[in-house]
Amino acid sequence: MNYDKCPNCGKSLNGFLSADLLLQSKVDFINKHLNENKEAYCTKCSSPLLSKIADTFRKQKSDIESRLQQIIHYIPVMTSPSPTKWDYEVIGMVTAQTTSGTGFATELSRSFNDFFGSGSNATNQKIARATNLCKADLRVQCIRQGGNAIISTDIDFNEIGAGSTNMLMVCMAGTAIRVTDMTNFSIKSRDTIIEIIELTEKLEAIAEIVK
Ligand SMILES: [Zn+2]
Repeated sequence: MNYDKCPNCGKSLNGFLSADLLLQSKVDFINKHLNENKEAYCTKCSSPLLSKIADTFRKQKSDIESRLQQIIHYIPVMTSPSPTKWDYEVIGMVTAQTTSGTGFATELSRSFNDFFGSGSNATNQKIARATNLCKADLRVQCIRQGGNAIISTDIDFNEIGAGSTNMLMVCMAGTAIRVTDMTNFSIKSRDTIIEIIELTEKLEAIAEIVK
């Protein structure tokens, strides 16, 4: 269809300094997310609409991320091979590394001096934090590749650097799988895993739109 004026805002589409109509795909996009049913939008009236949509997505993003952070641990990360009765497809290897803080060696030696003291606690907390970060990383990679569990996970702890600048490195590698029969999971896990997958898909969509 040919227009002289934008059907949405009435801006002239002819002549110098005029606006252009948006491509149909953009029009559909705006209509869908704002629950509108307009025939067309021009470059002028679409810009506040597009930023309104981007804002909604941005707001959802932090909600989705914090929810994901709460429930991501429902994706199992196991050191064992899968339980024998599980039917699954192998997706592939997933790996993660975390390098945590400085002064690891100092804290380690302190923990030997005072075996049950605060030094040992601090070190343990550091290791636990790095380990959890690695696990979360494996889980996100697994989900993004269509998986829902990680088996045969191997974990390595290494010190890198020398003297007081020592850092702790945690490395993890496992095999991402897609368990095809979800009844292998408990009901609560099953629902939560489905929610995790949906939230991850949303985040991926947001990352594509909000740039
Ligand atoms: Zn317009």
